[in-house]
Amino acid sequence: MSELRSVLDQMASVPNESLTLEELVSDVVELSHVGQMAEVLVAQKVNEISCRKGHLEIGYSSPTAFLIDQLRISAGHAKQVVSRGNASETAPVTLAAWADGRLSTDQTRHLFQLAEAVPDVFPEAEETLVGIVEPLSVRETAKVLEYWRQSADGPGDLDPETELARRGLSVSRTMGGMGRVDGWLTPTAREAFESLLDAFMPPPRPNDSRTPRQRRHDALEDLSRAWLDHGDTPVVGGEKPHISVITDIPALQGIAGGLHETLNGDILDVDTIRRLACDCSVSRIVLGPDSEVLDIGRKTRVWTAAQRRAIIARDRHCTWPGCEIRPEWCDIHHVDHWADGGRTSVEKGKLYCRFHHTREHIEDGRRRPSRN
Ligand SMILES: [Zn+2]
Ligand SMILES: [Zn+2]
Repeated sequence: MSELRSVLDQMASVPNESLTLEELVSDVVELSHVGQMAEVLVAQKVNEISCRKGHLEIGYSSPTAFLIDQLRISAGHAKQVVSRGNASETAPVTLAAWADGRLSTDQTRHLFQLAEAVPDVFPEAEETLVGIVEPLSVRETAKVLEYWRQSADGPGDLDPETELARRGLSVSRTMGGMGRVDGWLTPTAREAFESLLDAFMPPPRPNDSRTPRQRRHDALEDLSRAWLDHGDTPVVGGEKPHISVITDIPALQGIAGGLHETLNGDILDVDTIRRLACDCSVSRIVLGPDSEVLDIGRKTRVWTAAQRRAIIARDRHCTWPGCEIRPEWCDIHHVDHWADGGRTSVEKGKLYCRFHHTREHIEDGRRRPSRN
C-alpha cells in the first residue's frame, strides 16, 4: 500500500506545467485506469467483509452502513459499491474488463444492471457482450445492451411486471437545498412526461446560453409553478400548496444573515427571497424572541387581480428585451421592491418570465450596496 502511495506522491510532486501534452494525456488515461482498478479491489474487499459478516463484528448492521460511516459517502454510493462487490459472482468477465481498464466505470454500470435484470441468460452471453461494447461509447453501450436484453428471450423477456416494479421517482435534498432527481419511468410515463416538458419548453431565445438540460429544468419549474398557481391542485389546509418561506424584513431588503429559509429549513439566498416576495401571496407571521408565534396576519396577495389584469393587458409578454414568453409563465416584478418601500401599482409593475425575473434579481443583488 505504502509503495503505491509513494508512486502517486512522486507523480504529484512533478509540476504539471513541466509535462508535455503527450505526458499529460497518458497520465490522465493511466491514472483513470489505476483508479478503476482500485475501485474493483475496494468492491471485492467489501464483498469479502460482507461474506465473513465482518461488518457485524465491527459494529455495523450492514456493509452499506459500514461504508457510509467509514468512507463518509452517500447511501446510494455505498449500495453501488456493495452491488459491484456482488458482481464477482454475477458478472466476473465485466469486473475483470473494468479492472484492466478495457471498460469504463459507466459502461460497467450498464452491464451490472443487465446482469441483475436477466440473471438467467446473462452469464453465457457475458463474454460476447463485453467484447462487443468494449470499443463503444457509453451511449452506444447502453443502446446495444438494451437491444440485446429485449431480444435475448424474445419480447417475453421484457417482463411488464418487472418493468412496472422498477418504476420509481425520488427527489432528494442535497447541501444548499439543491434537489437531486433520480428515477425510472415506464415507457408510457416517459412518453407523457417528455411531451409535457416539450410543451413547456419554448424554442431557445436569442442569446439564450442555457444548455438543453438547463432548459428542461426551467420547463419543469415553470410547469410545477403553473400547476400550483392555476392547476386543479388538491387543497391542503384550506389553501393551495405553495412555496412557503420564513423570512425577516432585512432579508426582504436584501441583507443576508438573518432568517431566510423555506419551511423545510433550506436556506435561500436573499435574491431568491426578494424575487419570491415580488409576486406572491404573503402572510405575516410574527415570531417572538424564542421563535414562538405571536401573530399570524391574513394572507394578502401582493398584486390585486385588477392590477394583474391591467399589467398583462399592457405588457402582453415578458418585458425583457427579445423575450416573448406568455403571461401565464410570468411573474409581476416590482420595479422598486415593496420591501424597500416601493409602491405596488400598475406603473411600477412589469411582466418577467421566471428566467428573466431570476436574472433581474441576481443583477439587483449585484447593484445593492447593502450586499455583504
Ligand atoms: Zn421581482
Ligand atoms: Zn423573459
